[in-house]
Amino acid sequence: MTTLDDARRLDTADPLAGFRERFALPDSVIYLDGNSLGALPKATSGRVEAVVQSEWGEDLIRAWNTRDWISAPKRLGDKIARLIGAAPGEVIAGESTSVNIFKALCACLQLTPERSVILSETGNFPTDAYMMEGLAALSGGRIRQVLVERDAIDAALTDDVAALLLTHTHYKSGQLHDMKAVTARAQALGIPVIWDLSHSAGAMPVALNDCEADFAVGCGYKYLNGGPGAPAFLFVAKRHQDRVFPVLSGWLGHARPFDFDDRYEPAAGIDRFQCGTPAILGMAALECGVDILLDADMQEIRIKSQALGDLFIEQVEDRLDGFELRSPRAAGERGSQVSFAHEHGYAIMQALIERGVIGDFRAPDILRFGFTPLYAGYADVWTAVDILADVMQSGVWQDARFNIRSAVT
Ligand SMILES: *Cc1c(COP(=O)(O)O)cnc(C)c1O
Repeated sequence: MTTLDDARRLDTADPLAGFRERFALPDSVIYLDGNSLGALPKATSGRVEAVVQSEWGEDLIRAWNTRDWISAPKRLGDKIARLIGAAPGEVIAGESTSVNIFKALCACLQLTPERSVILSETGNFPTDAYMMEGLAALSGGRIRQVLVERDAIDAALTDDVAALLLTHTHYKSGQLHDMKAVTARAQALGIPVIWDLSHSAGAMPVALNDCEADFAVGCGYKYLNGGPGAPAFLFVAKRHQDRVFPVLSGWLGHARPFDFDDRYEPAAGIDRFQCGTPAILGMAALECGVDILLDADMQEIRIKSQALGDLFIEQVEDRLDGFELRSPRAAGERGSQVSFAHEHGYAIMQALIERGVIGDFRAPDILRFGFTPLYAGYADVWTAVDILADVMQSGVWQDARFNIRSAVT
């Protein structure tokens, strides 16, 4: 069994250890929730302040040109592209993941206009399924949403499917889909696939173009460390871009927005998937987070993330009873998180958070722990389980105050 000294030795030998200094984390916290809200890069406060004071405050509207605000969605898109195996000009930053899901679904429908089913899996992250329902409602009955269990997806791929929307790393279990194999199977039947990379981008190598992916979306505020409500991103494979008339046809997706034409003419390439004015303060913060990841080796991130997850599972199973592993045991089959079920999961997580170990809870009984190799270490993981063991042995989690539910879990 791994001891605290062993864990400290692993930290000393860790090639990513230096990245922790680039994040502003409170000393009293072991943060295992970077899969929900990434930590604050030290560079972010100064950068956002500079954009506010100097760019907005002094340049005012001129900053769209003088500070190149207008290019921010594409510049950030190109940077994110490097993290997910996409080419320059295939990714645009902006909006929320939910809105980008809608854009991608509509694009699929334009590529396959004779088809009527939009397909996803049961238990997917709710917004993915909800956005499909909205689109089905808008279609007045022409488009039908179908949700099937994971092991029934293959059988549900028929020539009436217009889009398959899947989350690469499952938000609750951390289970991975085989992106290359699923994409190939769907495409063999003419079905474009949308990959939701919310729990994958910045957490592991992703190879969209190697998988010949069609569309992808993802979050800026999880592993990309862009801050609460950070702009999300949309990937559209080059071969599809000019075949799609954007349904959210906002003025900044126009070929010449400053002509102020009465009629919409889509811009060439990824630009047409931009809708309205970009959130420049959010973009500035997101860029700080993405820049750190661009300095790191994604293979090293993956190796450490798997090792942290393995250590966590080993420690929980060696030291505690009543916790049931709900993530794949094989590190290669899970993302950068580990979930355990416990019937008192909510109260246990609240007690753990009060002791400074921050994970999160997903109904009905899942304690979820995210491992972010750039700022979480082996000794952190060891100590987190040690504190969890104390929370269980002392019975402190049974205090009434840990059973009061907050609005956000
Ligand atoms: C976090 C997450 C989202 C978030 O969507 P927002 O519109 O950015 O709130 C979407 N999909 C998945 C799979 C997620 O994990």
